[in-house]
Amino acid sequence: MKKVILVRFGEIFLKGKNKHIFEKLLIHNILESLKDFKVRLTKISGRYVLTDFDEDYENQIIDYVSKVFGVYSVSPCVQFESSQEKIEEYVGSLTFSSETFKVDVKRADKRFPINSTEYSAHLGGIILDNFPNLKVKLKNPDVTVYVEIRDDGNTYIYDKIIKAVGGMPVGSSAGGLLLLSGGIDSPVAGYMMAKRGMPLHAIHFHSFPYTSESAKEKVLTLAKLVSVYTGNIVIYVVPFTKIQEEIHKHCDGDFMITLMRRFMMRISEKIAKENNLKAIITGESLAQVASQTIESITVTNGVIEDLPVLRPLIGMDKEDIMEISKKINTYETSILPYEDCCTVFLPEHPVIKPKLEKVLKEESRLDVLNLIEEAIKNIEIFETNNIN
Ligand code: ATP
Ligand code: MG
Repeated sequence: MKKVILVRFGEIFLKGKNKHIFEKLLIHNILESLKDFKVRLTKISGRYVLTDFDEDYENQIIDYVSKVFGVYSVSPCVQFESSQEKIEEYVGSLTFSSETFKVDVKRADKRFPINSTEYSAHLGGIILDNFPNLKVKLKNPDVTVYVEIRDDGNTYIYDKIIKAVGGMPVGSSAGGLLLLSGGIDSPVAGYMMAKRGMPLHAIHFHSFPYTSESAKEKVLTLAKLVSVYTGNIVIYVVPFTKIQEEIHKHCDGDFMITLMRRFMMRISEKIAKENNLKAIITGESLAQVASQTIESITVTNGVIEDLPVLRPLIGMDKEDIMEISKKINTYETSILPYEDCCTVFLPEHPVIKPKLEKVLKEESRLDVLNLIEEAIKNIEIFETNNIN
């Protein structure tokens, strides 16, 4: 008898003609997430089985695997060669502290002589003999003993089905560039696109010395936390101070945010294209702040040449975004009180519905192309794999 972990994946994406590509990716991503553990992965029909791991790390392995996109649920279980004698001996050794239970047998191996319903009743009988006060309850019992007699010749017995993240394996879509601030929203936006299979790179605009080293560290930490789900993230840190100072010096202060955001978008699209990324991702949510009215979004989006800008949070309430951010463990870092570049030179009355004509007039006072070139030249590059 061995302790193993059953890993279930989404049946849907494994049915199409790209099945083998998805499957290869998923196995690769699972093994990558477990690279620090000794473990073996084998495939049985419709599942993966993790074996040969150190039992001390079982919970940690389960935790990691349930964060791999494409994995739908996970069960720690025991595995042994299918035989009536062994199954009954094991079921007979189980102990219960609950009041109600049921046995759920799935017989995939038709060589096994007894059908599922009959065998569930038989095994239930063995348990009742041992625990006469227990009651069978078919709907919502306290404990379900799952017995899977599979066609690989093995039986798997477990009582827990742990829900995993679901989604599509990262890498099944082309990559995207996430505009990552230190806030609550952008890490969630990245998580949501990665959940649909999109690998991430991240870009952060940094206004040193107006914003501190710690503000930058915070963003790297956030990227590291998101990378638990996505695998390695390359982070481009763009020096943004000069651009902000030039805007501040030459333009109407009320347009600060609009102008800044147009620079961010232009630089992001360039970096995305240079790195073969096919989309830009932001954490914008309609009407959350002044720069997120549809008029503002239109004016900032206007500088984009051809990449799609994905805004997975656009229709979400802050409460719901915060809930996800807590679930994915970025919230506590996001709320650390370091200033963002957007709070530097913040105007008292930012325009809420900027007119393109006026924005272009303000922008014409700047040497846009050179400012962009200089910022890009001084980018610092990090990778989450190299961050502890
Ligand atoms: P967040 O919580 O993600 O910071 P926010 O609610 O503070 O978002 P804004 O400051 O208007 O909203 O930013 C909107 C989006 O623009 C962010 O979600 C992020 O994608 C991007 N962004 C803002 N500041 C930066 C920055 N310094 N570097 C990179 N991207 C940024
Ligand atoms: Mg912000």
